[in-house]
Formats: sequence, structure tokens, C-alpha cells
Amino acid sequence: MCGIVGYIGSKKVYPILIKGLKRLEYRGYDSAGVAMISDSGDLNVYKAKGKVDNLTEYCNDKDVSGCVGIAHTRWATHGEPSARNAHPHYSSTHNLAIIHNGIIENYADIKTQLQAKGVEFKSDTDTEVLVQLMEYIMVKKNLALLEAVQVALHQVIGAYAIAIIDKRDPRQIIAARKQSPLVVGIGTDEFFLGSDASPIIDYTDKVVYLEDGNIAVIRLGEELKVISILGEEQELKVKTVDINLGQIEKGGYEHFMLKEIFEQPECLMNCMRGRINVEGNHVTLSAMIDYRQQLLGAKRIVIVACGTSWHAGLIGKQLFENLCRIPCEVEYASEFRYRNPVVTKDDVVIAISQSGETADTLAAIQLAKEQGAFIFGICNAIGSSIPRATDTGTYIHVGPEIGVASTKAFTGQVTVLSMLALCLAAERKTISEDLYGQMVKELTQIPDKMEQALKTNEQIEHLAPIFTYAKNCLYLGRGYNFPLALEGALKLKEISYIHAEGYPAAEMKHGPIALIDSEMPVFVIATRDRLYEKVISNIQEVRARGGRVTALVTEGDTQIQKFADHIITLPDTLECFQPLIASIPLQLLAYHIAVCKGKDVDRPRNLAKSVTVE
Ligand code: GLU
Repeated sequence: MCGIVGYIGSKKVYPILIKGLKRLEYRGYDSAGVAMISDSGDLNVYKAKGKVDNLTEYCNDKDVSGCVGIAHTRWATHGEPSARNAHPHYSSTHNLAIIHNGIIENYADIKTQLQAKGVEFKSDTDTEVLVQLMEYIMVKKNLALLEAVQVALHQVIGAYAIAIIDKRDPRQIIAARKQSPLVVGIGTDEFFLGSDASPIIDYTDKVVYLEDGNIAVIRLGEELKVISILGEEQELKVKTVDINLGQIEKGGYEHFMLKEIFEQPECLMNCMRGRINVEGNHVTLSAMIDYRQQLLGAKRIVIVACGTSWHAGLIGKQLFENLCRIPCEVEYASEFRYRNPVVTKDDVVIAISQSGETADTLAAIQLAKEQGAFIFGICNAIGSSIPRATDTGTYIHVGPEIGVASTKAFTGQVTVLSMLALCLAAERKTISEDLYGQMVKELTQIPDKMEQALKTNEQIEHLAPIFTYAKNCLYLGRGYNFPLALEGALKLKEISYIHAEGYPAAEMKHGPIALIDSEMPVFVIATRDRLYEKVISNIQEVRARGGRVTALVTEGDTQIQKFADHIITLPDTLECFQPLIASIPLQLLAYHIAVCKGKDVDRPRNLAKSVTVE
């Protein structure tokens, strides 16, 4: 999920690696490291927690000679951020070093097998399993590195972009990818490697974007060779990069927020990876295995969170109550902490925070802990304060979120809450096995359906200018879609500075209806579910007052278009997962409206990404 740099040629490798890592700093990371084969033939690995500057400081008095090397900035998924867990990782003999972006799903099984054969591990990462497995295969089967990589990757389930060097063969880097990008730069008698083109473009504009399931054999003095995992040679597609650095950082998108909106299908796959089985009919969370008794013992769930995470919590409430029949309350952490709330040891408190550093949420955890509750965290940043303060939890694994307005973290949080609710419901037998199977399967379809929902982008871009004049907007939804109405309104407020309110559609007539006139855009989430007919009546109420309705509807809907000004069509899914799909057009709406108004989408005024003050 984070940054990869590599070089082989006749230049000094260390400055190239460090410059490359700095280029990748925009992604956000928790540690960094380099591996280089020195002039005297040693394989040196240097790593440091925190910024690239910490790494360079550490390397000050070290041997940084050599002309071949790999480097990495890590966004931890397995094992806390620390120098020990930072990449590159050595194999046991210190002959090999590896860097890896992504998640190895079946790392625990492979690790146990290797440990039984006497392999000792130095880190808690899933990545180290790869390099140990490769070395084990090399020795056991007497294979060359390339062949061992092929055999190893056959056994691996997960996502990866990797690069490996072997000190016994300093003229070669092997790199491979599956679901995580990797670019090889071709210079004159030299090659570069990057998780995107940004560390490469200073040196060459000739690049090969490695395709899924392919391995690049980078050998000095030879042509770049690309083969499949099965060993079949692939056609070399050399491209010329003509985009600038800013564009590369944002993956070709104009803003990080748009990139992050579009990343969501992949993020949710990462979030479910290793948790939903390959057949797509069973979900397990390690927290649920390790703390089964405490979680099943919950007489009540209390969710504490702020902002967007609080909205995710409101969806969680409905999931826990509907599927698990566990009473659930959702609290603003900032209110909870000063309210003298009733908390008992029979409560499970779920704390949700993207950064894992939200000050109010941390304080709420402390209070609940003192009163004996069991605390479960849902965070993105590994090893941050909240995961350390909780009894257990589940990371959302959506990668660094740079845009201040949260998008992929929201859908990641809702996905984790859905998986947790399904685990609890299955254990408590509050839903039938059939329904459980159907729901797990449907959850695995969400990334594909999100892809479909993303196709509304162009339509929304065209609609956006109509709304830029608005001073106020109203977002309406019911059931699972009510928290989404709140989230849609929040997104718009945050980045376009247009005042917006989210309301349960039926509650509108108890107040906000007074505001409705032809100047006020009303966005209604009117997907087909139990309350569909009722939402239609609510739309009619808006129309009767001259309100202008933009409705989010399910594909095949023929009714709403008759009286809505605009409709945005979305793929069908189960009611409880609808917010995952419908959040996409709402994020896009806020984004395009803000862009039309010329606002700084990624850094809205007065807002901070991580709210570490109360
Ligand atoms: N899963 C690996 C780890 O936790 C790689 C993380 C990354 O992509 O940076 O070390």
C-alpha cells in the first residue's frame, strides 16, 4: 500500500533510493528502509521508524556503497510500525532482502509451516513470510531465485508488489505484482523500479507498467524480461511517461479526494482480504477468535466516534440491532466523555477513528475502560494510539487517506462493522445460515458494484454546476440510508462550504420542510428497500413545495424519474449494504460541486486530517 523504489546500474544507488523515497512521501507512511549490495559484496539493510529523514540520519555512519538496491516506505498492515517490522526484510541467511506493498492473506499458515521446519522469524509482518518461503524453496529444491519466486508466489494468496535482491547475484532484481502497482523504468544500462513513476521520472521516461500476475526479471546488461508466474514470456509494453509529478502522485487524478473515491473498490477488497474466505461464504475476524467470549458476552454495544466515523457508527447500530439483536447506542465521543454515562462491564464499546489519534475518542475509551467495559477499536492507522488503548479491534486496511474529507475510510469502517455484525450474528444464531451465506456473498460483490456506481462520475460532473449557487442543501434518507444522508451533507459542508443538513426523510415535515423552495436542492437516497414507498411519499412532499429533487435510485426504477428533477442510478444490493454503494455518488457530488466553486478540495479551510485536540 505504500512506497517502493529500486535501482540497478552503475550510479551510486543510495542517493537514488533516498530521493525516490522522498518522492513517495506524499502517500504517508510509518517507517522506511533500504537494502543495498555494497561494493564489497555485503547485503546491508538499514531501517528506521518514522520519516525518511530518520532513516538518512541512521545511515549517516553506515556503509551505503553499492550500485544495486531496493527501498520501501511502509504503511503497516501486520505488526506495529517499528524499525524491526519496517522493510526490507532479510531471509534467514541474510542472502536475500525483500520489500513488499500489500497484504499476504495466508501468511499465518505459511509461517506456521515454516516455523515447524525450523525457520526463525524476526518480524511480525506478513512480508517476511515471503522472503523466508523463497529462501526455503531455493535451498530445499535447489532452485535459482527466479524459480523460487515463481513457486512461492503460487502458494501465496493476497495482494503484492514485491522486489527481491540476492547478494550472491548483484546484477539482478526480481520484481512481481498482483493487485498492487509496480513500474519498471528503463534507462541506458540501468533500470529503476517504483510503486508509481514518481521516483523514476527524473532519470528516464521509458517505463513498463507491470501487469497483474507478472514477474519482471531485471538484469544488468540484458533486456528487461517480463514473464508470468507460470514462466511464459510476456510481450514488453514500453510506454513513455509524459505526466508531471503532481499528476503521478495523485494517480492521474486532479485531487487526492477523487483518487481516494475511485480507490474504494480496491480498498474494500483489501479490507475483506483474509477475513472473508476465498469461496466468499464465511467471514472471520481475528478479534472474534481471540476475544470470542468477551464479544459474545455483550449485553449492549456502545459506539463512540466523531464526524464521519460517527456516521459509520450509526450504520453499525442498525447492523448490530437488526442482525445480532444486541442493543446499540452511538455516542459523540466528545459528549460521552463529559456526560457521566452509564457504562458497565457487560458493555462492549466500539471506538471508530480513521487516524487512531482522535483525542475525544481516546478520552471516551479511557472512561469506558475505567468502568470495566471491553473495548474494540476500528482504525486505519496501524499502531496508532487508539489501537494501543483498546482490548482488541480490526483495522480497516484502506491505506493512507490524504484528502482531509474522509471517503474510503468511511466505507472501510462500514465494511468492518458489517463483517463484525455478521460474525456476531452467526455465533448468536440471530440470522439463518442461508441469510448469513447470502449476506457474506453480497459483501464480496460490493467492490464490483462500487465500480459500477463510479460510472456515475461523468453524469455528476455535469450536474454539479447546477448546485453551486445553493446556499443550503437538504439530504434525506431512511433506515440505513439516514446516516448516509448525514454523511452526504457533511461531505458537502466540509469541502464546498455550502450549508447542508441530513435528515431522516419523514422527520423533514417536523421542521426543515419550512426551508424548502425552488432555490433549495434536495438530495434523496431512494434506493429500493423496505421504506421505498414511504420515501416516494417524502419526495412528493418536497415536490409539492416546489423543491428540486435529485434522487439516488436503484437500477430498473421507473417510478421516481416521473417526479424527480434528476436521478442517479445505482446497482441493487441488500438494504444494509446500500450505504456502501450510495456513498459513492454523494462523495462525487460534494467533490464536483466544490471543484466548480474553485475550493481547495484536499485541504478545506479550518479542518485537520487528524483531530488530536479535544
Ligand atoms: N503488509 C506489509 C506490512 O505490514 C506491507 C505494508 C505496506 O504495504 O506498506 O509490513
